[in-house]
Amino acid sequence: MPTAIIVHGGAGAWDLNSEKLREAMAVCRSAAKLGQDLLSCGHSAIDAVEAAVRVLEDSPLLDAGIGSYLNAAGEVEMDALIMDGRDLNTGAVAAVRRVRNPISLARRVMDGTEHNLLVGAGAEAFADSIGFPRCAVDDLLVGSELERFLALKQQETYETIEIFNQPGAMGDTVGAVALDINGNLAAATSTGGTRKKLPGRVGDSPLVGSGGYADNLTAAVSATGYGEALMKIVISKRVCDLVEGGMNASDACASAIQLLEQRVSGLGGLIAIDASGNIGFNFNTDAMPYAFATGDGSISSGR
Ligand code: ASP
Repeated sequence: MPTAIIVHGGAGAWDLNSEKLREAMAVCRSAAKLGQDLLSCGHSAIDAVEAAVRVLEDSPLLDAGIGSYLNAAGEVEMDALIMDGRDLNTGAVAAVRRVRNPISLARRVMDGTEHNLLVGAGAEAFADSIGFPRCAVDDLLVGSELERFLALKQQETYETIEIFNQPGAMGDTVGAVALDINGNLAAATSTGGTRKKLPGRVGDSPLVGSGGYADNLTAAVSATGYGEALMKIVISKRVCDLVEGGMNASDACASAIQLLEQRVSGLGGLIAIDASGNIGFNFNTDAMPYAFATGDGSISSGR
């Protein structure tokens, strides 16, 4: 079975002519390339999506890991989910602070506990108990987000949905899905959430079926966008259900985004790979940087 990988750098009101969007596409290409290389060497889909998302988290351009948005209290609280399509095993963390790579902490929740999701102080205590590397808040902060936080603090009417529909400098949530040589699917999503969210707010990203889903029998999916809307229609599982009903990954993503818009006036984007290896992506925001590859083929990217 030819391998496949697709990654995204988040759906939103990106400035289409900005250098930042071009750079975000380049980071997506690097992440997809690393995932492709691992898959080519026989690594599993779950290893490939974790490694690809770590590259995206390490980029200060994107809203995950380093570069995460600040919440209304000026803190960084991150959410992440990883899911293995072989056995539907899932690991997730929510509202977690001071870790550089939340996706790897989510992986440790999946591999090392009987639980699916750990939040806040509990997730941080788990990290400490297994010697998972912690960092300082300053290690996650980029100057432009600090400036934006100070500006947004003055805007009493600001709503978190604005990053999806009002043009402005942005980076965004990240995700990856992959199919390995043995036909196994996996999905991973990581985010700093929305700017000026209330402390303790958890978005769609760490919620199984909303921020991502992976099932070898149907598809692997990662979602991005206004989480309050995405989770209402459990969008990633919806894509898998549409694939189960006979659609390919591309049509299923388009149909789910249409539903998001029509049913809950939502804004967002999706990437997916179905069990036959078809790649899909769709979004109804101004842009969503993405990059993908099948087998040892060249990396394609777009926004
Ligand atoms: N879905 C993320 C959230 O609501 C944000 C995003 O994808 O941009 O936390």
